[in-house]
Amino acid sequence: MRTIFSVLALALCMAQLSMAQVDPRWKPNDPDRPAPPVIEPGSTPGRPPSDAVVLFNGKDLSQWTGADGQPAKWKVADGYMEVVPHSGIIQTRQPFGDCQLHVEFTEPTPPVGEGQERGNSGVFLMGLYEIQVLDSYQSKTYADGQASAVYAQFPPQVNASRPPGQWQTYNIIFHGPRFDKDGKVLRPARVTVLHNGVLVQDNVELSGPTGHHVRPPYKPTPDKLPLSLQDHGNPVRFRNIWIRELGEGQ
Ligand code: MG
Repeated sequence: MRTIFSVLALALCMAQLSMAQVDPRWKPNDPDRPAPPVIEPGSTPGRPPSDAVVLFNGKDLSQWTGADGQPAKWKVADGYMEVVPHSGIIQTRQPFGDCQLHVEFTEPTPPVGEGQERGNSGVFLMGLYEIQVLDSYQSKTYADGQASAVYAQFPPQVNASRPPGQWQTYNIIFHGPRFDKDGKVLRPARVTVLHNGVLVQDNVELSGPTGHHVRPPYKPTPDKLPLSLQDHGNPVRFRNIWIRELGEGQ
């Protein structure tokens, strides 16, 4: 019994350690504490705030390349980009780690295929950790592979999918992993996801990179790597993609 309590106490302690803690450098209500920077929020939901890096504004793929570093081959039309099946993933020119990310997508209509073949794409944080993009509106697949799942690790808390043809949003808060000089994991990656404004992933701790039928362990990486979008052979559309890098303590 005592062992169980010790394990529980240790687990609780570790859980607390993994959360943000009050900064002891400042007194409560300290007037000398620096004010947070003032920014202009988007005036409409999803509009990029003034301090965001806009990754896609509906006009061109200048912020993106293919996996080979060559210009991205996806189609751009009428304010959106569309996966050109079998042209390959696209990835950002700039590497990103800890971030707040906004992505809008819409699924092919009328829908084609079933399960994992129905409007499959994905948002790959650091190119390694997939938040699944799929048409999960009245369409079944395995729970940890449906829209807004952390692929093969965490099903979403609810299915907040909209019908194909309607624009949907992901708002993602990601804290990447950290490694010591020997490659040991100092902190695993964590992610929070809102799908169409609904909390679906609440600060979940990733077991490592995501993969199909596998949960591979972490391998040491830089703190930042390009963000990528998946070509799964389905013509999913994206628009209005922006990102805010998070600094220490956020
Ligand atoms: Mg996918």
